[in-house]
Amino acid sequence: MGQVKEKMYNGIKVPEGEVVKFENGKPVTPSKPIIPFIEGDGTGRDIWKASKLVIDAAVKKAYGDKKEIAWFEVLAGEKAFDQTKDWLPKDTIEALKEFGVAIKGPLTTPVGGGIRSLNVSLRQIFDLYCCVRPVKYFSGVPSPVVSPEKLNVVIFRENTEDVYAGIEYPAGSPEAKKIIDAIHSVSPDKTIRPDSGIGIKPISKTGSQRLVRRAIEHAIEHKLPSVTLMHKGNIMKFTEGAFKDWGYEVAEKEFAEHIITEEKLWADHDGKMPAGKILIKDRIADSMFQQILLRPDEYSVIATTNLNGDYLSDACAAQVGGLGIAPGANIGDNCAIFEATHGTAPKYADKDVINPGSVILSGVMMLEFLGWNEAAQLILKALATTIQQKKVTYDMERLMTGATKVKTSEFAKHIIENMG
Ligand code: NAP
Repeated sequence: MGQVKEKMYNGIKVPEGEVVKFENGKPVTPSKPIIPFIEGDGTGRDIWKASKLVIDAAVKKAYGDKKEIAWFEVLAGEKAFDQTKDWLPKDTIEALKEFGVAIKGPLTTPVGGGIRSLNVSLRQIFDLYCCVRPVKYFSGVPSPVVSPEKLNVVIFRENTEDVYAGIEYPAGSPEAKKIIDAIHSVSPDKTIRPDSGIGIKPISKTGSQRLVRRAIEHAIEHKLPSVTLMHKGNIMKFTEGAFKDWGYEVAEKEFAEHIITEEKLWADHDGKMPAGKILIKDRIADSMFQQILLRPDEYSVIATTNLNGDYLSDACAAQVGGLGIAPGANIGDNCAIFEATHGTAPKYADKDVINPGSVILSGVMMLEFLGWNEAAQLILKALATTIQQKKVTYDMERLMTGATKVKTSEFAKHIIENMG
């Protein structure tokens, strides 16, 4: 019998298990999927250890021996650089391409070198066009607002265009001058001061519609009441305004039986929602920030352009108690990477004190993405119970009265106990 050659990436052996395949942008999950993980730099090490324990315990509790994750470490960031002299080795890219679904802790942005943010690089290499950030409140978490429990949104932020594909030229550069001259020759009535820096933000129909399509599909799958298109189209008509128009177009063309637009709701139904329909509405960005604070319960799924989504997701995370428990996912048609939304918090590295909630909840998103909802629910409930018991890491403890400060590893242990 011929011996099957062991497969290795970065010198690390691939464990036994199966590949998660993608069909029409959705995963087909085997019972023992191989899931690459990047533990992350700085506090990533503590966070990953704790998160893996929690995810494995939930899968075991939910499915016994029937399902299991075959974790496979892939290298990126400082660990990769130390071992391979490359911040994002080719092998890591190949492994992520092969296995499709991965989870990562925070990575340091290398300063000075040729590489820009590793997170941005991963999003671009795999065309992870959807940045998904669910934001909901866990009872007991200290929050700066009066009724944080009213906020429960999922933000779909476009991840490849707008300022992420932005082109900039400094004031006084030959490129800026050429563009200013070209604009003056095309539109003589427009004036641009010669000492202006120039920035271009491209937003396409393709990029906008694939993002809004995902947002509406999410609302349908999870029976959510509305999808709001957030934009600044009153000022930037052909980028932000077009995003809104293309969003409505995809909603009306592809999801007509599922949706109703706000305009039709008032024109045909006197503002009364027909049963089973999803409301498609739009809000100008500045108004959205007010609304999410003042009337958060009127919003559910929010689809938006890159820069708006960046601002809104951090503002919403703050509203429910901060980045320590804010998860995220970057999703494309053939790959999905789940990740912490905060950075490496290097001053707490290896001290076993940091809040692992963000990666644990990213794990919940990953389990849901794989269709392992029972395990996801176990973690969600146990995490909520642990916070209610006021057994929390330093960041929450310092803002709560009567709380017990626990280490990262202890927090994970309490979550696992609470699954019982
Ligand atoms: P940061 O690592 O997010 O940390 C800033 C502060 O946020 C920390 O000092 C801490 O505040 C709080 N914090 C962050 N994570 C926390 C957690 N899990 N639990 C509790 N509190 C938490 O931001 P940074 O210091 O600006 O960035 C450090 C490095 O991370 C940089 O290299 C940056 O480029 C990188 N980064 C990576 C990602 C990513 O991988 N997705 C995202 C952002 C930044 P207190 O000191 O008040 O406790």
